[in-house]
Amino acid sequence: MQRATPRNAITVKPKSKEWDSTFHLLSWWKTEIVKSASVMVVGAGALGNEVLKNLTLMNVGNILIVDFDHIEYANLSRSVLFREKDCEIKSQKSDIAAERIREINPNVKVQTINGDITIDVGLGVFRRMDVVIGCLDNRLARLMLNRACYKVNKAWVDGAIENLTGIVNVYRPNLSCYECNLSKNDWFNIRYRLGCPDVARRNYSQGRIPTTPITSSIVGAIQTQEALKVINGNDKHIMEGELYYEGMNNLVLQLAPKPPKEICFSHFAYDPIETSPLSASNTIAETLAWLSDHLRDENPVILLDNELALQITTKESEITMPLVKPSLYLTEKYLEQNHSVKGEDVLITKETKEIDKHFEFLEKTLHEIGIPPLHIIRVIANEDIHFIELTADEGFLSFS
Ligand SMILES: [Zn+2]
Repeated sequence: MQRATPRNAITVKPKSKEWDSTFHLLSWWKTEIVKSASVMVVGAGALGNEVLKNLTLMNVGNILIVDFDHIEYANLSRSVLFREKDCEIKSQKSDIAAERIREINPNVKVQTINGDITIDVGLGVFRRMDVVIGCLDNRLARLMLNRACYKVNKAWVDGAIENLTGIVNVYRPNLSCYECNLSKNDWFNIRYRLGCPDVARRNYSQGRIPTTPITSSIVGAIQTQEALKVINGNDKHIMEGELYYEGMNNLVLQLAPKPPKEICFSHFAYDPIETSPLSASNTIAETLAWLSDHLRDENPVILLDNELALQITTKESEITMPLVKPSLYLTEKYLEQNHSVKGEDVLITKETKEIDKHFEFLEKTLHEIGIPPLHIIRVIANEDIHFIELTADEGFLSFS
């Protein structure tokens, strides 16, 4: 029963801009650490909405949202942060989520990257996070996220939902690995999504998976809780092995952890990472000149993470066109808008994964050849591999 407020009683309001919570009463909770923590949430769909809402209520200081999609009516039934008006103007999911987070808790600072996790987020960004949370709907993106986190020794929390079923895993380099656990069927699915490597990527579309806001709420809550354990350094209690939830029969299983395999493509840490005065807005010529001087090698070679397409040819009409664009960006929409290619398969007839002083387009910037701000580039010099961070882009990471 609610008690009536006595007349003349003094109402004590919480100080403005102070998040009034009881979290500090939790034995393992470190208020100041949580307030200054940085968390990357990849995907702002059904799961992402739940995770973002929870992080906001838990007063996590800095949230980076990565998503390339905009809001559609179909998202509304399972996305607590989105409204009908957001669909009407086709707003970006990440921008609207950021707006709502600031509305709910003005203490939380947010930044958005409207891009694809597989190509648009620099490793230096990952490196500056305390934990990464994957709220993704496909295995390829999870695989890329796993590899990126492994390179900079970062823990990530994966969640997946389908029907009334959900799973959560926490992956920590050297302790657990997403790629090690992929089945033959998973690899088939990933290869299908990647398509034929010689053919420009067509926009893949995925059939809609039935989910409910209840399953995403449960899975997103567990993901957030595990991420908070990572932030608080509560290592002893971080989940080991997969958590499986099935809502029809109320089944919750904690499966035994599987140690990482001996050999796996994900197990590749960038060490040591060198900082530099370089930026993704430097030209290739400027970058090579600095690298040459710094590493004392006449011809340092930059190894690209993804193929850079230099020429495409239409399959039927056999028209050849030069270009300088990462192959992964060559979607149907891009080819139609920029190269007037419509309804035809396009073959990549010239591409490279290595850049040195003989490269034809030295005046292009690193960003133009697919290297995102604050990335860590791999450079071969003096027969050795170097990991150089584009540290001049540090200001790119700016929460507000
Ligand atoms: Zn592995």
